[in-house]
Amino acid sequence: MSELFRHIPSVDASLSALEQADPAFVHGVPRAVLRDAVTQFWDELRAQIRTGAYTAPDQLALARHLPFLLKHVRRFSRPRFSSVINGTGVIVHTNMGRSPLAAEARQAVLAAAEGYCNVELDMQTGGRGSRHALTEGLLCRLTGAEAALVVNNNAAAVFLVLDSLCGGGEVVVSRGELVEIGGSFRIPDVMKKSGVTLREVGTTNRTHVQDYRDAVGENTRALMRVHASNYRIVGFHSAVALKELANLAHEHGLPLLNDLGSGCLVDFSAYGLPGEPVASSALADGADVITFSGDKALGGPQAGIIAGRADLIRRIKRNPLARVLRCDKLCLAALEATLRLYLDPEEAWRRVPTLRMATFSCEEMHAAARGLASRLRRLFSSHAVPCRVELRSGVSRMGGGAFPQYDLPTTLVCLRPQGCSATALKDALLATDPPVLGRLENNAFCLDPRTLKKREYPLLLRAVRLALEENALLGNTNSHT
Ligand SMILES: *Cc1c(COP(=O)(O)O)cnc(C)c1O
Repeated sequence: MSELFRHIPSVDASLSALEQADPAFVHGVPRAVLRDAVTQFWDELRAQIRTGAYTAPDQLALARHLPFLLKHVRRFSRPRFSSVINGTGVIVHTNMGRSPLAAEARQAVLAAAEGYCNVELDMQTGGRGSRHALTEGLLCRLTGAEAALVVNNNAAAVFLVLDSLCGGGEVVVSRGELVEIGGSFRIPDVMKKSGVTLREVGTTNRTHVQDYRDAVGENTRALMRVHASNYRIVGFHSAVALKELANLAHEHGLPLLNDLGSGCLVDFSAYGLPGEPVASSALADGADVITFSGDKALGGPQAGIIAGRADLIRRIKRNPLARVLRCDKLCLAALEATLRLYLDPEEAWRRVPTLRMATFSCEEMHAAARGLASRLRRLFSSHAVPCRVELRSGVSRMGGGAFPQYDLPTTLVCLRPQGCSATALKDALLATDPPVLGRLENNAFCLDPRTLKKREYPLLLRAVRLALEENALLGNTNSHT
């Protein structure tokens, strides 16, 4: 057996053979990454030799293994960061990077990335300027705020606002709003970390204005309203209207802070999507500082937007933590370009992908599903891949904590492979390049066209075919679930 080990091709010989077989690929990957993938391949073979799978030296000839080596190296030398095809129908999916950017925003990012930019230049003097100035005017115009700034994300925005305005004091919040947002962001924990003492008032389902009034004391620094985002209390429930809460805060000379969560710059209820707070309405109703995400329903880059009263925003900007939590030039470039689209709301509905996807009609979804299904059927019949394709009505979701209980009607394209289980197909599609994500429903692997782009179809079709062929080869029929 140790004699056999000596016949395993060397890494250098393998690399030369790979280079001959596919020079373009080999030159596009760092040498160290290729070496690791090659070493890993022969290590696996070594393990097989130990099990007695190989007995003669000529079974180890490089030429015999080259196609498998190439496949292995292609797969394991890919960057860890990759685009994925989102067939889940969840529009703002935190695990998949939330909002895709509008073309205008993508171009702005590219331009900012390619060279130098004026991220902190004062264009009158050529000296140091403020990065806040890039988006502040637009944010004020779109929300009606007196002043605004942008930080890394909304969690940072909430933290910075509390730390700047309320540190060492108490903030009064309704018990029904002490929510946990996916990925372990808990409002009470963030409040504690910012040195604020939380005064919970009311009960989980009901809070009255008197509850807030009773809780206000010498140490109170603010009243706070937190949008419940991904959960809703239904049934016997009451909350104090924002206006009324603002009046109470102002009676006591306190600011009202409002974490909108997803936050919107346009009113989705025009499209029958109710219940998400619009930034300008929150300020008009008397909130003194609002915070919301850039990459949820707004449809821009990851960012936390803080907007409101000028004197309060000035204190927030002066906090040294504002420097710690600042966002970078690429984010600001994308955000400004996205916000500019909102200056004409019709443009925003058309050009911001998140808004566009949220407002596709039933008919549009059905037509898209029919188109995708017929392309899949054609592909399967021309490659003799045994897989049934069915259409079924289903629901898409906004995601990102917005419109949590709202069903966006859609038509799903459901795949029922005959040679393997739907679960095996789902698993295989996680390993294709690019990976494809969908949903398992009713023993089928379902794709929701709402979050798919037509230009992704060729890659999607290829991935599905490869995944099914691979599973057919492996005879992966065992895990019917
Ligand atoms: C999503 C959310 C946050 C956190 O926002 P990120 O942009 O993910 O940091 C904070 N508060 C509420 C109410 C949210 O819905």
